[in-house]
Amino acid sequence: MEEPETIVIGAGAAGLIAAERSASIGRRTLLLEKAPKAGVKILMSGGTRCNVTHATDAAGIVAAYGPAGRFLHSPLSYLGPDDVVALFAAEGVPTKIESTGKVFPRSDRAIDVRDALVERLHRSGASLKLKTAVRSLVRDGDRFEVQADVGRWTAPQVIVTVGGRSYPGCGTTGDGYPWLAELGHEIVPPVPSLVPLTLDAPWLRELQGLTFDPVEVAVWDVDDPAARRPKRPLARCRSSLLITHVGLSGPAAMNVSREVARRASHRTLLTCDWFPDRTVDNLLAELLERRADEPRKSLAAALARIVFARFAEALVRHLGCDPERRLAEVPMEWFRRIAAGLKGLPLVVTGTLGFAKAEVTAGGVRLSEVDSRTMASRKVPGLYLAGEVLDLDGPIGGFNFQAAFATGWLAGYQGTPPETWREANAARARR
Ligand SMILES: Cc1cc2nc3c(=O)[nH]c(=O)nc-3n(C[C@H](O)[C@H](O)[C@H](O)COP(=O)(O)OP(=O)(O)OC[C@H]3O[C@@H](n4cnc5c(N)ncnc54)[C@H](O)[C@@H]3O)c2cc1C
Repeated sequence: MEEPETIVIGAGAAGLIAAERSASIGRRTLLLEKAPKAGVKILMSGGTRCNVTHATDAAGIVAAYGPAGRFLHSPLSYLGPDDVVALFAAEGVPTKIESTGKVFPRSDRAIDVRDALVERLHRSGASLKLKTAVRSLVRDGDRFEVQADVGRWTAPQVIVTVGGRSYPGCGTTGDGYPWLAELGHEIVPPVPSLVPLTLDAPWLRELQGLTFDPVEVAVWDVDDPAARRPKRPLARCRSSLLITHVGLSGPAAMNVSREVARRASHRTLLTCDWFPDRTVDNLLAELLERRADEPRKSLAAALARIVFARFAEALVRHLGCDPERRLAEVPMEWFRRIAAGLKGLPLVVTGTLGFAKAEVTAGGVRLSEVDSRTMASRKVPGLYLAGEVLDLDGPIGGFNFQAAFATGWLAGYQGTPPETWREANAARARR
C-alpha cells in the first residue's frame, strides 16, 4: 500500500466502522490491529450473541448515559439505533428485539456481526493489518508517526479506537492513554465498569447461582465526609441480580459497579430491595397473615412461599432469627426485621472483580477535549477519537456498542461533511 492518508488504530467496533467510512470518502486508509483477528470483543460479547444496540431512539440512548449522554447527540444523528439495525440488515444480518429491549442478531451469532463489519471494511478498500501492536503515536510536524512492533507508518490523520482497559485478554490494555496524554489530552482515571461486585457476606456464598428478578439495588458511600448519613444513593438500578461465590453479578449489580470502582478507597454499602413493587407494610401484613393461617409452620417454611427456600433460611439466620421457630411463637420484632430485610438489606461491598472481568472501562479521554460534531481532538489537529477510549460508558443493554459504532462512524469522516447511514446507503445503491 502507498503511504496511508489515514491510520486507524484498533479494529474493534469503533475502528472497523471508522476505517470503512474513511476509505469510503476516498482516503487511503490503514487499520492496524494488535490481535490476530479483528473484532475480538465483538465475538465474545453478549455471551457470544452480541447485543448490538438497544430498542430505543437516539434520545433513549442519550438518556441512558446520564449527563455524558449529551456528547452522543451528534454521532447518533448520523448512526442511531434504527440505523444500526438497518446497517446489519443490509449486510444480511437481521436482528431481533428481546423483552429487555436488547437487540441481537437473529442468528444469535456474534460472528455474523463481526463478519458483516469486516466485509464492509474490505468492500471499502481500506487495508487491515493484523498482529500489529502500536507502541507509540507521536506528532511529527504536520504528520503523525505510528510506531508498531512490526513497522512504522506516517500519516496526516489518525483515528484512535484502541478501546479501554477492560478484558485485557482481548488486546485492550489501555495502550492509548499514555500516547494521548503525551499529545496533551487529559485522561480521566480509568476504572472498571459493568463488573461483578465482591461483598463481605460469607452467608450469601452458599446461595451462589440464585437469580432474582427484579431487584432494586442502591450503592451508598458511607465514608463520604459531606454526608455521614447519605440521603441519596450514588447509583440505583432495578434489574435482575445473580448471587455469585464472591458477591453479586447480573445487570442490577453490574450497572452500579462504576460507582463502587470510583470510590475504591471508601466504604460502600449496597442495599437490595428484593420486592421493589411492594412496601414493607405489605410484606409484614403477608407474614402476619401466614401466622394467622398456619401458626405451626416454621418461619423459614413460611418465608419460602415468597422467596427461594435456600435464601429464606439464610436470610433469617443472617438477620439473627431462628428459621425453625414456629410462626405462632415468632416475636413481632422478628417479623418487622425480616420485612425490612426484604425491602432494603444492607451489604458491605469490598470491591469489584476489576478490569479482568469488566465489560467496559469508565474514564478515558476527557469529553470536553473532543469535538462531538466531528470526533476531532480539540488538542491535536488531524487526530480523531472514537469508542471506549473516550470517557464514555453506558449501562448493559447494547448501549456501549451503539456508542462505539456511532462515534466510529462520525470519526471516519474526519471533519468532512458526514452522511447519515441512510444517505450513505442510498449513495452506495446509486453507484
Ligand atoms: C465480555 C464482554 C461482553 C460485552 N458485551 C457487550 C454487548 O453485548 N453489548 C454492548 O453494547 N457492549 C458489550 N460489551 C462492551 C463492548 O464490547 C465495548 O464497549 C466495545 O467493544 C467498545 O468498542 P471499541 O471499538 O471502542 O473498543 P474494542 O472493541 O475494545 O476494540 C479496541 C481494539 O483495539 C485493539 N488495540 C488495543 N491496543 C492496540 C494497539 N496498541 N495496537 C493495535 N491495536 C490495539 C484491541 O485489540 C481491540 O481489537 C462487552 C464487553 C465485554 C468485555
